[in-house]
Amino acid sequence: MGRTSRKRRRRKRLNFVKLNENTDESLTHLKSWLLSENCTSIRYLIPKHFSLSGRGLKTLKRIESDEILLQLPLRMLLTTDVLSQSHIKTLFLYTTDKFSPQCMLAIFLVYETHLGIESKWYLYLKTLPQSFTNPDFCSNKEKAMLPNFISRPLYQTHKLQEDFSLLMKIIKHMDVDRSHCPHCNVYLQKIVTFAKYKWAYYVVNTRAVYVDAKVCKENTFNIKQPNNLALAPFLDLFNHDVNAAVKVSIVTDNYQNQFYQIVTLKPFDKETQVFINYGAHDSLKLYIEYGFFIPCNPLDEIQFNIFDIKRCFDISRNKLDFIIFNGFHKNMSFTHDGLNYNATMALFILSTKLEKDRWKLKIYGETFDTEERSIINKLGISVLNLKRTKYMCALNNMKNVKSKSLSFSIAINLIEEYINILDAAFNYMEKLKNVILY
Ligand SMILES: [Zn+2]
Repeated sequence: MGRTSRKRRRRKRLNFVKLNENTDESLTHLKSWLLSENCTSIRYLIPKHFSLSGRGLKTLKRIESDEILLQLPLRMLLTTDVLSQSHIKTLFLYTTDKFSPQCMLAIFLVYETHLGIESKWYLYLKTLPQSFTNPDFCSNKEKAMLPNFISRPLYQTHKLQEDFSLLMKIIKHMDVDRSHCPHCNVYLQKIVTFAKYKWAYYVVNTRAVYVDAKVCKENTFNIKQPNNLALAPFLDLFNHDVNAAVKVSIVTDNYQNQFYQIVTLKPFDKETQVFINYGAHDSLKLYIEYGFFIPCNPLDEIQFNIFDIKRCFDISRNKLDFIIFNGFHKNMSFTHDGLNYNATMALFILSTKLEKDRWKLKIYGETFDTEERSIINKLGISVLNLKRTKYMCALNNMKNVKSKSLSFSIAINLIEEYINILDAAFNYMEKLKNVILY
């Protein structure tokens, strides 16, 4: 995870803004609660639905550069420290197994949500979304149809089942007193179900911010380090914009109260939406982690590997060794501007008729001539066509699915976006390929 300020979704173009039934009222209650807890910085910020980005915040006054957007008292952040105030801490107290802060916060959310109005965090919990659109929320049938480039990183990054099974094992071995909820006497296994755990895991995944590990003081539990995640009420209402710029810090006032502070480096006009920026992510990462993506993301690249090349051409052992030795086989990709550096180099080696002792000189010392560029791009187009055919095939199969989940529809949009990038790369390479003819 590479969040600098926060994890948060922004829904743009994709027409699926689904409102929480309780949103408006619950947000008003959350705001009054925070104001009463000395969080005065949010006074001029109004939760509002925006047609393009969904739920967001509007400012009632102009905000200048270097002005504070939000100052949340640290005690209002939900870090692993809050577990010590909750009965559910019992799951983590008598075990040598280590859990991630994400897993622990998720369990906390599940338990506190079941307490309803009796939870100290009730007003915040009420504002959380009930559903998510990350690929993990595709049905099993849909998941089986996702192309590898989506399913592989999905399963590598999120291993919910492992932690969950471990937790269930812990509950099973507890004595009766501890394994039942003191507030309703229900068996904890009935309260912490996998569906609820998954929901809470993605609440944390899409909404938590990184904080300095020093903020989390609790050391009763065996926590996987770094212990640096926090849920921040109200903060998760800010939408993301690539052009927004913010500075995040922990500040202390004259009375030794500590705050989580966000300062904007760009101004906002009165009566407009206020944005923050949570870091540079490509569309795939945005979809897997947050369940959305923004079209025309300049960071998007379509990767390919040696096996894709091998499907189009024979590569001599000699050339393959050279490509691998120099690391050109890693991160080869198509961008809006054709082939990236590594792809260009690998395809040059593949196509060159020069003797081996000239390869290095050519790559690091000289530039490619028109004919060389033309051949490199011709080979690139062959690999591109192979990729495009694969995506088109996946896309057609996926489009044929009846009553798709929202998550799956976004996967379809993502593949269409990838095909657009391939088409832009194709047009670019086609020009270079043909240059020799003129
Ligand atoms: Zn209970």
